[in-house]
Amino acid sequence: MKKFILFFTLPFLFFACNENTKSTEETPIKITEKPEFAIVIHGGAGTILRKNMTPEKEAEYRAKLKEAIQIGYEILKNGGTSLDAVTKTINVMEDSPLFNAGKGAVFTHEETNEMDASIMDGKTLNAGASAGTTTVKNPIDLARAVMEQSPHVMLSGKGAENFATEHGLDILDPSYFYTDRRFKALQRIKDSEKTELDHDEKKTAFYDADIKNSKFGTVGCAALDKDGNLAAGTSTGGMTNKRWGRIGDSPIIGSGTYANNATCAVSSTGWGEYFIRAQVAHDISAMMEYKGVSLEEAAREVIYNKMGKLGGDGGIVAVDKDGNMVFEFNTEGMYRASMNDKGELVVEIYEK
Ligand code: ASP
Repeated sequence: MKKFILFFTLPFLFFACNENTKSTEETPIKITEKPEFAIVIHGGAGTILRKNMTPEKEAEYRAKLKEAIQIGYEILKNGGTSLDAVTKTINVMEDSPLFNAGKGAVFTHEETNEMDASIMDGKTLNAGASAGTTTVKNPIDLARAVMEQSPHVMLSGKGAENFATEHGLDILDPSYFYTDRRFKALQRIKDSEKTELDHDEKKTAFYDADIKNSKFGTVGCAALDKDGNLAAGTSTGGMTNKRWGRIGDSPIIGSGTYANNATCAVSSTGWGEYFIRAQVAHDISAMMEYKGVSLEEAAREVIYNKMGKLGGDGGIVAVDKDGNMVFEFNTEGMYRASMNDKGELVVEIYEK
C-alpha cells in the first residue's frame, strides 16, 4: 500500500535539469550522488488510523521518532559507526513507553513482558540476538553484546539474562516494563478469548483479524555510515497475549533484521510468524545480491508478493549501500522516520 523512497541529487542538477530535488513522498528522484550516510527507523506497523489518534498522541509519537533518529544522525554525521547509530537510536525508543520495546513492551498471556532483539553488522555479517528476556533494560544492547562478546548469535531466557549481568548491562526488576496501556490491551484480548466459541487453538484472539493489528509497536533502525558500512537492528516485546515462550521474527537474523554491505540493511515489523516464514529481511537482500534488483523493487516483491500473499502484514525500513532509503508496508500505517546526510528529516505515521 505504501511506498516511500528518498533519493539524493546534486544541487547543480536542480538548475541544469530543472528537476524537483526536494525529497517528497511518492516522488522518487534519480540518484546522482551517493550520500555520505543515511538512517531510517520504524516504531511498528499496524492499524494506525488518523481517526483513532488524538493530535496530542500523534505529536508525542512524532517527537519521539524525531528525537530517536537525531541521535543516530549525529553519530553518523560525526563519523561514528552505523552499529552505534542503530544501537543508540533504538535505545531511545526502548526507553519510551510509546513503543512495544523495552519500557512499554506488550504483555504475554502469563502477564509478563518477554523481549526479543537482534542486530547485524553488514561489514562482517556478524550478528547477535536475544529472546525472551524479562529483566534486561535495553535488549538491543544485549543483542549487540552477544554479537561482540560471545561466540554465539542468539541467546535466550535465563541464560541470556545471566550473560547480560556478566557483561554489565542494566538489569531491572520486571515491574519496570509495566504500563497500564499494555496491561489493559492484554485484558481486552483475554476477555474476547473467553467469549470465543470455537476453541480451535488457531482461532484464539492471538490470531483474530480484528485485534491482531492492535498490538504492534516494535522498533527498528537501519543505517549507512561514512565508511560505507551498513547495520540494522530490531527490538520488541513481541505480540500481546503470546504464550508458550513464543518468539517472533524480531530476534531472528534474516527475518526481523539483516545487513550486508554488498546490498542493504533491513529492519522488519509486523506479524512475526509470517515474517519468519517469508524470511523477509534476508530475502530482500538476496534479491538484490542474486538478481541485481533495486532495494525498492526487492522490498515491494517480498512485502506484497511473498509475505503479504501468505496472509501476513507489516512492513520494513531499509537503506541500501548507496544510501537509498525505503519504507514499505501493507498495513494502514507504520511509525517511521528517515534522515539523509543533509539533515533532511521525514517523519510519517499513516499510509497517506
Ligand atoms: N514482529 C513482532 C513479533 O511478531 C511484532 C511487531 O513487529 O509488532 O514479535
